[in-house]
Amino acid sequence: MRRKLIAANWKMCKTPTEASAFVNDFLPLIHSQTRDDIAIFPPYISISTVIDALKGSAVEVGAQNMYWGKQGAFTGEICGSMLVAIGCRQVILGHSERRQHFGETDDSVNRKLLAAISDGLKAIVCVGELLEEREAGLTEEILRRQIGYALREISGAEAGKFAIAYEPVWAIGTGKTATPQMAVEAHEFIRHEAAKSIGDQGAQQLRILYGGSVKPENATALMSQEQIDGALVGGASLDAKSFAAIVTW
Ligand code: PEP
Repeated sequence: MRRKLIAANWKMCKTPTEASAFVNDFLPLIHSQTRDDIAIFPPYISISTVIDALKGSAVEVGAQNMYWGKQGAFTGEICGSMLVAIGCRQVILGHSERRQHFGETDDSVNRKLLAAISDGLKAIVCVGELLEEREAGLTEEILRRQIGYALREISGAEAGKFAIAYEPVWAIGTGKTATPQMAVEAHEFIRHEAAKSIGDQGAQQLRILYGGSVKPENATALMSQEQIDGALVGGASLDAKSFAAIVTW
């Protein structure tokens, strides 16, 4: 049985003051929740505040991106060892907004995944098709390419060190959610493709999360699917009550 992971991607939202207020509201709402793993991904400037505010709880904190290089002349970048040094445990890689606006490529996602694993961070690697790709029947081709690149040089023994988030781009921030059936089909295909790189045993261990307009109203239908190993939540994770309702699905 894979343990589910419910993760909050705050994107470019919440100052340290706002982040700390969120944690104060959120923790009492989920204190008896031990069924699933929970993680919060604040913007860089609020990471330390959230780590401090969450002390004593099982909720982990991660970054929304990192660079694969070691320390040095890379202005504006943050590397994995720096994240580990402040208590980060996880990192999101290859989010579609980074692919769309900041030139993230399949190759850079792979370099970042190798670096994250070597730095001891657990990664969430995002994949997913655009609306026009789904409509053109290209979903599997896109997922095959993204998974194949992302998992180059990753071994089955590392399957517990990262997760894949299936995030159809047409469902992110749009209010349109993939049906549980659509998500299950994509997750089964992703596991099948991942097995080509990390073997059957590794692929069975791999967590595959769904992301794309997850809300309290659709969380139970999605999370109760055996093939869906958790959720990456954007907009609905910004409000403590709403994210708590998702976590306690
Ligand atoms: C995301 O940013 O990863 C995401 C899934 O956003 P939303 O839940 O707002 O669609």
